[in-house]
Amino acid sequence: MSKTPEFDKTIEKYFSELKTDESGGLWRSCALSGEKFYIRKEDIDFYKKISVSLPTFSYKERLRRKLAYLNSYTLFRVKSAHSGKEIIAAYPPDTSFKIYEHQFWFSGEFDALGYGMDCEMGKNFFDQFDVFQRRVPRPNLMTDSTNVRSDFSNFSTHLKDCYLTFDTLSGENLYYFLCCEKSKDCIDCESMFSSEFCYSSQLVHNSYKCFFVERSFDCRDSYFLYDCRNCECCFMCSNLRHKKYCFMNQQLSKEEYEEKMKGINLGSYKTLKKYKNEFNELKRNATYKPDNNYKATNCFGDFIENSRGCYNSYFVFDSENTNYCMGLIRARDSYDTLGGDSPELCYEFVSLSVKDNYKVKFSFQMNNCREVEYSHLCRNCSYCFGCVGLDKKSFCIFNKQYSEKEYWKKLDKIKTWMLERREYGEFFPPRLSPFPYKISANFSYPGFRDLKEAEKYGYNVSDIDEFSDEAKENSVDADELPDNIEDTLDDILSKNVFDRENRKYFRLTKYELDFYKRFNLALPHEHPLIRLGRFREIYNLKIEPYERVCGKCGKKITSFYNPEVYKNVFCEECYAREIV
Ligand SMILES: [Zn+2]
Repeated sequence: MSKTPEFDKTIEKYFSELKTDESGGLWRSCALSGEKFYIRKEDIDFYKKISVSLPTFSYKERLRRKLAYLNSYTLFRVKSAHSGKEIIAAYPPDTSFKIYEHQFWFSGEFDALGYGMDCEMGKNFFDQFDVFQRRVPRPNLMTDSTNVRSDFSNFSTHLKDCYLTFDTLSGENLYYFLCCEKSKDCIDCESMFSSEFCYSSQLVHNSYKCFFVERSFDCRDSYFLYDCRNCECCFMCSNLRHKKYCFMNQQLSKEEYEEKMKGINLGSYKTLKKYKNEFNELKRNATYKPDNNYKATNCFGDFIENSRGCYNSYFVFDSENTNYCMGLIRARDSYDTLGGDSPELCYEFVSLSVKDNYKVKFSFQMNNCREVEYSHLCRNCSYCFGCVGLDKKSFCIFNKQYSEKEYWKKLDKIKTWMLERREYGEFFPPRLSPFPYKISANFSYPGFRDLKEAEKYGYNVSDIDEFSDEAKENSVDADELPDNIEDTLDDILSKNVFDRENRKYFRLTKYELDFYKRFNLALPHEHPLIRLGRFREIYNLKIEPYERVCGKCGKKITSFYNPEVYKNVFCEECYAREIV
């Protein structure tokens, strides 16, 4: 027997009144932007299956609404509401939320149940939730007890000795890192999987000692590679497969290659800069296939790997039947889910570096939860509604504990009433985001940076007080660092390096300096967060496919590469024939 009979009756009636076209789908206009969007028959079947009404926002606006809840990279100094000490936090100093040290918040000593309140009938749910969410303290950074000696990380788990590592599922000795799983001993990388001793690399799998390598798999001991697979000892090459000793895409003998490499000193900043420019040129002239998908069966989207049946999904790995999703690994049957490992039957859900959520809806940053809706920052919970910061709880509403029987009775009433008022079925409105728009993921990546539009749609676009770096004592201008890493003394570790262009100071860590010396790499001159920001610029989150023609055979193709920027985009067949 249903536990929410009134709600079930109401949603059944809702579906029976839907007017679909001959294909079983229907067109809608986005309630925010007015953009027309089509809801497919299979989408409607899914919404029916999980008992939610149809979305009123287009995919783009649904995505923007969820991204507004994420701030991984913009950090501030705030006063802890727990200890009164100054701490680093993802919230600006004037935030109206109470911020606690993550060490205490995740310790088990903190119990969010003490902040419970009544959810009243007849009042707007989101207005009440907004009052409630400001009562419950939040962690300064999302870094829990699975992390060891990795206090300065955000939205990351299972880290050991990592520093400024973000959106990462697991890793060891990672410095300045974004989006990674199972990598070790790397600096300045993004989207690295099972790789070791890599530097300044992006979208790399199973690689070892790779420096300035992008979109490559199974490579080792190489520099400046783009779209290479199973290559070893190669320098400045693109589109290679199963090669060894290639230099600027030319096959050399082992001796010739080693001789060439002797003449290249990447420990010199000037030399490195020259090769970086050359690499940018190489990337522009490389050959591309229409998308970045790999072993993607029956999928539509970009950066999909080892997956099947994923529609309008991006950065999805080892997944099945994800629709309108982004940034997932091992996901099943989910819609509008952003981030996380192994979600199943989830909808309108945004969570990074979390695991094992089942039937979680309209929620933010939940870990190992089951059948929870409209909640934030909960873990190991089941059957909760509108909760914040709970751990190992069931049958709670607004952090108030109910008996199982009371819970279902109250939930049935709340959901029915919300559905009737058209509040149920949508993610939290923009105004409830804990972050100003300018520090949210909407602004960290290209795609949704139009502030006028964001303001029109109800986002808080107020200015943020920039981290104003005052002149620091004992500092050295980055441009005055010795050109060669060999000439760098250890006393640099006690100095503040001034990145003049970005007007920011940074410190080098001992781990980094040893790494640069060991692999003969020049010292970076830019602040690490500026370096990380550069990796994000290749991902336009407002993804739009382009209709263009294959650069080889002229056939019409749908591609995620802008024809204005990328000239050599081939159809799948031509690419497979050319790149062997
Ligand atoms: Zn072609």
